[in-house]
Amino acid sequence: MKISVIGTGYVGLVTGTCLAETGNEVVCVDIDENKVERMRNGEVPIYEPHLDVLFERNIKANRLQFSTSLKEGIDHGDIIFLALPTPEDEDGSADLSYVLGVSDEIGKLLSGYKVIVDKSTVPVGTAEKVRAAILKNSKFDFDVVSNPEFLREGFAVDDFLKPERIVVGSSSERATDLMKKLYKPYVRSGNPIIVMDEKSAELTKYAANSFLATKITFMNEIANYCEKVGADVDKVRIGMGTDSRIGKRFLFPGIGYGGSCFPKDVKALHKSGKEDGYDFKILESVIDVNQKQKLSLLPKIESYFDGDLKGKTFAIWGLAFKPETDDIREAPSLDIISSLLDRGAAVRAFDPEAMDNVSRRYGDRITFSTSMYDALEGSDVLVICTEWSIFRTPDFNKIKNSLRYPVIFDGRNLYDLMDMEKEEITYFSIGRKPIK
Ligand code: NAD
Repeated sequence: MKISVIGTGYVGLVTGTCLAETGNEVVCVDIDENKVERMRNGEVPIYEPHLDVLFERNIKANRLQFSTSLKEGIDHGDIIFLALPTPEDEDGSADLSYVLGVSDEIGKLLSGYKVIVDKSTVPVGTAEKVRAAILKNSKFDFDVVSNPEFLREGFAVDDFLKPERIVVGSSSERATDLMKKLYKPYVRSGNPIIVMDEKSAELTKYAANSFLATKITFMNEIANYCEKVGADVDKVRIGMGTDSRIGKRFLFPGIGYGGSCFPKDVKALHKSGKEDGYDFKILESVIDVNQKQKLSLLPKIESYFDGDLKGKTFAIWGLAFKPETDDIREAPSLDIISSLLDRGAAVRAFDPEAMDNVSRRYGDRITFSTSMYDALEGSDVLVICTEWSIFRTPDFNKIKNSLRYPVIFDGRNLYDLMDMEKEEITYFSIGRKPIK
């Protein structure tokens, strides 16, 4: 099939590449000329495991092409995916200007029947707005489908190729049939393509992300309470998670969720609720608790240094909002780094993939290290913000020999308390007793 993808970020580029992988002819359109030029030169502009192999293979086979011309994209595709940003607006709602702006243009460019598929995460009712924006300028027949994306950064290729489910919101049989045909190769193991109305599809995505953010936040509150009463959140987590109604996943406490999705999606659902006369009290708490949780290591750090961080140097392991990505949007590491700098401290940071993105934000206000151990040299203590696998079994002797004080503030609970005791490392984590 002939497919176009408008927007080549984490979702658009993975969508385009993975659709080319099953034999479709794909044109990816982006407004960012520099990005398009890099992709035309064979460079993958984001870090996403396994994407490079598919990217190269499909470019070579001429199934994957890049353009800055929306017209080229609209002329090419029978199905046109919108994978455009829907960032948080000032009032917390989803900014639809990218999606509706492009829809407006699409109306002017249509020259025959097309299916416009909204893959961006958008509030209930957006499919109608997209339809209206296109209709304003077009006399040709078209359908609008809501097809929210559930891929996770870090696992995006796998998630796209073997999705647990595909949600298709459509009121057109013709468009639904095309979507089913397109996705057939991805659900061979029997996972469902769930067809529903557009509004329900739009809400499914917000509901899923808000539920997951709530689950994480609930565990963070349990962890905070564990610290008050001397319980161990790791034991509580395992005790709870073995109940199949609860499940083991997403029960790990830490310094809060970040990323380009959970924070903005929870806020957008909360805001939509308000506009539609519904007060999502639970989401208000989730937003509030998560904001505080991002800085939950700070009182521990301040107390260790008797409130005076001036002139201290902090090694930071992990900058990305989660492992296996270079994405730093809303990453808790940024809140911690800014707070440390505000208090007169210095930062030596290391992350396997996200340092370029962070350096664009902080410039030379922090030092970037060549390795996780290099970050420790000349630092007073270590703070862990992201659970990259390479941090899980470090050389503790090196840590102790390099740091001024053998102290770790661990925002991701990477180490066993008994091991820390044996290593004689002072260790502060989340929801577990401190080792002093
Ligand atoms: P992104 O910011 O990584 O990429 C968006 C791309 O769109 C950029 O390359 C940008 O240059 C391009 N763009 C902006 N305006 C354009 C225009 N007028 N024409 C063509 N291209 C344009 O965004 P993303 O992370 O891929 O997210 C896209 C959407 O998918 C959002 O709604 C997001 O909430 C949703 N989503 C994201 C994820 C994720 O893990 N990142 C997962 C599921 C859903």
